[in-house]
Amino acid sequence: MTTIREALLRGTQRLRGESEHAQGSERLDAQILLGHVLDEPRTTLYAYPERELSAEDEERFMALIERRVRHEPVAYLVGQKEFYGREFFVDARVLIPRPETELLIETALTEIRSRLDAGQTPLVADIGAGSGIIPITLALEEPRLPLLYACDISPEALEVALINCQRHGVEERVTLRQGDLLQALPHPVDILVANLPYVGTDELPQMAPDVSEYEPHLALFSGPEGLGLLTRLCYQMSERAMLKPGGLCVLEIGYLQQEPLTNLLRTLWAQATITCIRDYAGWDRLLCIRLS
Ligand code: GLN
Repeated sequence: MTTIREALLRGTQRLRGESEHAQGSERLDAQILLGHVLDEPRTTLYAYPERELSAEDEERFMALIERRVRHEPVAYLVGQKEFYGREFFVDARVLIPRPETELLIETALTEIRSRLDAGQTPLVADIGAGSGIIPITLALEEPRLPLLYACDISPEALEVALINCQRHGVEERVTLRQGDLLQALPHPVDILVANLPYVGTDELPQMAPDVSEYEPHLALFSGPEGLGLLTRLCYQMSERAMLKPGGLCVLEIGYLQQEPLTNLLRTLWAQATITCIRDYAGWDRLLCIRLS
């Protein structure tokens, strides 16, 4: 028989031993995976370290450890990821939420609240919604918003977004639409947000296998320098006039993309106010475009 303590030790050692890309998170990964198998928060595991595992639980745990050894992300193994204080369902159909995206939420919420406080009801759209974390979080954080659009080109990603809308009880308020960027939007909006794929395929050789071998490439990559979709979105926004005058667009970007995108935006809207916000690590992370 194996105890919780022994299982955690064995799992951690197996992860450390085999991983060419040791991340220092092996112990935490083992705790999360065992907590998942036992259906308990990982923090309670240490309350009963000598408790014995059933043979079946032990087998399930070691099977998950073996998948983790092959770099499958923990979030896919347990089927969820925390974002902005809530758990979201994820699987290989969608990108795993990243903490950096919380900055986009804060920026969008400030704009949404100032409009609501001024008596307006802003229309909000998220382009490239993936698992739906952005529109669902905005809907939950600001219950006064009656409607948000969540658009994605991938029908599979929208299936995951629907699961998350239902899990969080916002399926009446978050409208899912399938299409290429702004094509999915029925009419212009006041606030556009997007965390589009912005990684360059040039970076593929240096990427951790956890990311490059498991997360959907459709959700990660966009041309050699990662600027393909962000550039197309800017053109579409200008051609289709999908952002209302006075509207705000908040784009999550890669750390080298501020300058090329700002230059492009200047040619499309000479009068727009463009600001860049850095993340907590000091990298350029958001580009905000306010139309006059
Ligand atoms: N909007 C989703 C997120 O922020 C999906 C992003 C994507 O697939 N590129 O996680």
